[in-house]
Amino acid sequence: MLNCIVVGGGIAGLSSGIALHKAGHRPLIFEAYGVPSDGIGGFLTVAVNGFDALHTLGLKAAADHLGPLMSMYLGSNGKHLVDFDYGGTLPDGTTARTMTRSELYSTLRDEAGRRGIRIVYDKRLTAVNEARDGVHVVFHDGTTADGDLVVGADGLHSRVRTLIDPSAPPPRNIPLLNTGGIVPAGVLRPGLVDVEAGRMKMVFGKRCFYCYMQDPDGSIWWFANPLQRSSEDPSTFDADARKAWLTKLVAGDRTIMEAIIAATEEIIRPYTTSDFPSIPRWHRGRLVVVGDAAHAASPSSGQGASMAIEDAVTLGRALQGLAPESIPAALERYESERRIRAESVVEWGRRNAEPKVRGQFKRVFEDLLLPMVFRGMAGKSKDNFDWVYRHHIEWDTANSAAK
Ligand SMILES: Cc1cc2nc3c(=O)[nH]c(=O)nc-3n(C[C@H](O)[C@H](O)[C@H](O)COP(=O)(O)OP(=O)(O)OC[C@H]3O[C@@H](n4cnc5c(N)ncnc54)[C@H](O)[C@@H]3O)c2cc1C
Repeated sequence: MLNCIVVGGGIAGLSSGIALHKAGHRPLIFEAYGVPSDGIGGFLTVAVNGFDALHTLGLKAAADHLGPLMSMYLGSNGKHLVDFDYGGTLPDGTTARTMTRSELYSTLRDEAGRRGIRIVYDKRLTAVNEARDGVHVVFHDGTTADGDLVVGADGLHSRVRTLIDPSAPPPRNIPLLNTGGIVPAGVLRPGLVDVEAGRMKMVFGKRCFYCYMQDPDGSIWWFANPLQRSSEDPSTFDADARKAWLTKLVAGDRTIMEAIIAATEEIIRPYTTSDFPSIPRWHRGRLVVVGDAAHAASPSSGQGASMAIEDAVTLGRALQGLAPESIPAALERYESERRIRAESVVEWGRRNAEPKVRGQFKRVFEDLLLPMVFRGMAGKSKDNFDWVYRHHIEWDTANSAAK
């Protein structure tokens, strides 16, 4: 049994803890923040490949309760362009679901707790010393821990990544901001809402890409991706300025977005988006990275959480039943099974973000072009994107395979 030090208690860290426990090891998760991140963050989607990986970890019952099913359609300035299939259906009927990041987080955290996996808060890893027989990690407060390996699940600005390779490149900026909010059921005027329960409407507006959806409980969830401009920093705006800025961006679109923004009590502070195309090394000795620390995809991929869970399954499987001396070879196997797929998804996500950026400059042209582009995409999506969504990792065999 390996003592596994998991750095970071987000989606990748919790999934890795669960996978390593399933593989017969003893994970201990160290999280930099002092408290759990319940209630923090906006929305994310777990696609069918992410659910497939959760099922492999034995989380089917817990995952079945996550988020509502959302079918999507695209619009432009009030026009309905095309319905969109988000990755199809697993054989058991599971489809992609949109949920708050907090909902996924707390499901994984509670499941980790049920399996006896400990999470220690307020422990920001600063250094790792490797010896022949193990690793010795140091936290910001001077405390230490010993183990057999370090799993860096410490996100986009990973410390473990730079300990593996000090020359690892920084994340790549995507010139889109992310913000959003929730309007409780019954707040908007009856009859105003133009999206049915369980549907999400993605809109290429005149000045901003945004999406709103109706939860089956009647509340309206939304996010927006305004273009990042060097002339302003909306992350510093107070609540009123944030509302005024977003209202201006959607004004004149023939949608209900202006009313949704007006009715939102707390708009998420806009944050920049990045991705991580490729880093030279995912592992060195007894150190390895998973999730965003290894390969962050743009939020437009809808794959960040799903890829993190896939990583966890592959890592757990690679280390199953192994003794400490086999760790480097197992980490090599993990990387070789994950790298091409993860980096391909990152590039695909970047391409998905492009119309959101481009469209804001070429609105009139895009209005003519988007229907054709997206009708084509919807028609081809099943076959073209199968490589993203129809990916199953077999826990008990030596090789993973896209089915
Ligand atoms: C609070 C929060 C809210 C988010 N909200 C959204 C959202 O609304 N929509 C969306 O698409 N994505 C969101 N994300 C990102 C999304 O969760 C990830 O892109 C994806 O799930 C992959 O997760 P990850 O675990 O690799 O990275 P992350 O989710 O970023 O988790 C990394 C964890 O590592 C911890 N950490 C970092 N450095 C250290 C260190 N040195 N020592 C110990 N711990 C460390 C961080 O505090 C964090 O908990 C959010 C992330 C966080 C942390």
